Amino acid sequence: MKKALEMLARKEGRGTELVSLYIPPGKQVSEVLAMLRDEYGTASNIKSDATRNNVQDAITKVQQRLKLFKQIPKNGLVLFSGAIPQNGPGSERMETYVFEPLEPINVYLYRCDPKFHIEYLQEQLREKETYGILLLDANDASFATLQGKRLEIIQEITSGVPGKHRAGGQSAARFERQREAKLLEYFNRVGKHANEIFLPIQNLKGIILGGPGPTKYDFEKGEYMHYNLKSKIISVLDTAYVSEQGVDEIMERAPDILRKVRYIDEKKLVQDFLYQVGHDTGLATYGEDEVRHALRMGAVKTLLLSEGIDITRVTIKCTACGHTTQETMREQALSGFQQKLVSEQCPKCKAQTLTVEEVKDVVEELAELAEHANTEVEMISTETEEGQMLKNSFGGIAAVLRFKLSH
Ligand SMILES: [Zn+2]
Repeated sequence: MKKALEMLARKEGRGTELVSLYIPPGKQVSEVLAMLRDEYGTASNIKSDATRNNVQDAITKVQQRLKLFKQIPKNGLVLFSGAIPQNGPGSERMETYVFEPLEPINVYLYRCDPKFHIEYLQEQLREKETYGILLLDANDASFATLQGKRLEIIQEITSGVPGKHRAGGQSAARFERQREAKLLEYFNRVGKHANEIFLPIQNLKGIILGGPGPTKYDFEKGEYMHYNLKSKIISVLDTAYVSEQGVDEIMERAPDILRKVRYIDEKKLVQDFLYQVGHDTGLATYGEDEVRHALRMGAVKTLLLSEGIDITRVTIKCTACGHTTQETMREQALSGFQQKLVSEQCPKCKAQTLTVEEVKDVVEELAELAEHANTEVEMISTETEEGQMLKNSFGGIAAVLRFKLSH
């Protein structure tokens, strides 16, 4: 699904004509079909003939697919349809995709846009990752987990630590000692609960620590949690509350936090590659041809692909003698190349019969090669300095290798 979505993410219509439809579980098929009939009617107002036809074709395709379902599956249903240019303008072909989500979707959405709306399905993939939330102050602590948008408060405990003001008649030093001891006991208890709750979670991506005041920092500094958990603290935040309201505060800021976490991952991935290049270890390579070669040799441990590249691999075939060659070019250069090709001779038989047989996104092609070689594929955004560097200095295609290659 991840790969399918990455593939869909790169598809673009000529105009605003790609249909995305998300149907949550529990919707009636007939109700959705009625909505689509309305949308079909509305589309008849579109001025451009080509766009109107493409939109209406896309809606018809979606209707046809939907009719195959007696009822919406238990997690809902997602359909994409639209005319996708294959080899430049005029080469559009209707493509339709149907997904049954891995988990229930909770949006009902119909959109017609230049791109498919895959973000809700993408979110579900990310949902596999879980974050631990630990909020504490001197009085209470709460433990929660965040999986995608699903938040679960696991436990809330109280500290038993007395307030800062001693009762009359007690010696100040003795009171302070007792309070310190109670606090230490409390921190140990929080650590123990954290270990019990967070350690068994597979795919625990990080822990967010929060709460009002300095207590959380005191806790962070000490060795109260298992070191594995301690190393997973990704953010320490001030919140006004420790209870459920505090967890809600974290949730509001979660998208930002998680985006930063992804950027940190991306930075690390590129930095690892840069280290190999800088130290001349022989365990890194870059550039389309070099990386393709390394992939074919099964040598690539991690393939880094910039989201900022849009190059295609074109297969040219002579219809007379069958001679084929391949060329790489930017997507925008494709139509010009096709026009030029008509007047060119086949290098083998000299006939003017060269045609474009296949156009493949290079990112897609390399990702496919990587799959066969059991390689990790990482899409790197251009949001970080490292991501920019990957795109601008290394052509957006780089690899960290398992072993050295001798050319
Ligand atoms: Zn030929």
